[in-house]
Amino acid sequence: MRPLVAHIDLDALRHNYQLACQCAPHSRSVAVIKADAYGHGALECARALAHDASAFAVACLEEAVTLREGGITAPIILLEGIFSADELALVDDHRLWMAVHSAWQVEALLAFSPRAPIPVWVKVDSGMHRLGFAPEDVCAVWQRLSEAPEATGLHLMSHFATADAADSRYFQQQMTLLQALATKLDAPLCLANSPATLAWPVAHGAWNRPGIMLYGSNPLETATPATDRLRPVMTLRSEIIALRDVEAGEPVGYGGRWRAPRPSRIAVVAGGYGDGYD
Ligand SMILES: *Cc1c(COP(=O)(O)O)cnc(C)c1O
Repeated sequence: MRPLVAHIDLDALRHNYQLACQCAPHSRSVAVIKADAYGHGALECARALAHDASAFAVACLEEAVTLREGGITAPIILLEGIFSADELALVDDHRLWMAVHSAWQVEALLAFSPRAPIPVWVKVDSGMHRLGFAPEDVCAVWQRLSEAPEATGLHLMSHFATADAADSRYFQQQMTLLQALATKLDAPLCLANSPATLAWPVAHGAWNRPGIMLYGSNPLETATPATDRLRPVMTLRSEIIALRDVEAGEPVGYGGRWRAPRPSRIAVVAGGYGDGYD
């Protein structure tokens, strides 16, 4: 067999989750384990965090069902909500929480009769301009859902475009808009991704949503005392499978983009694009 192994350090994952919690002592932290826990194995990561994590977040229903079938009982939130109305039956069966970012999702929920009210996070587009209700439409949506027996546990959710950047002007602009909305609606908030969890206490809400930092990656442009404590979760190891000697000036690899500046010994490591290694 090929000698390439991705080793996953679940102690480091737990450590990083605790760090996210320590950075925001007044918030609860949703462990974002979408996309197979950023490639680290969602079910294994969820099991490793089961005693610590207050909730998990995934991108879609099939990811949530895999966790439930694997024995995960904590709340699981669908960050993009449902993709079609018929998914609501499984959301109800599996006691999932859902974001709503579009009017049709609200209509579908209000036309559905869940056995228990579904916890709903209302996503507002405060400047990322990908998903979410326009700020001027959020109050009407919030009002309808707060009166609906189908929905419960309303939170206002948003996503930051530049919380990782040293230039904080756009972040501040998003924050100002969100604080005005939160005051108007008296809404509990869920705003902070990893960089905002690490660097922006002002963005910490009832919940935060750390993702990439759980896996040990520093999402900020610079290091801070907190980011220095992150531990890498994945270590990719392989073996050298060939050694060769090339003359000065000889090219190595596709396009000959590297040329030996002097007589050189070249080691070839088993691993490449197919393993996710650029
Ligand atoms: C992926 C995702 C997160 C986590 O973001 P990180 O930058 O990885 O911490 C948070 N919220 C939403 C809506 C996401 O899609």
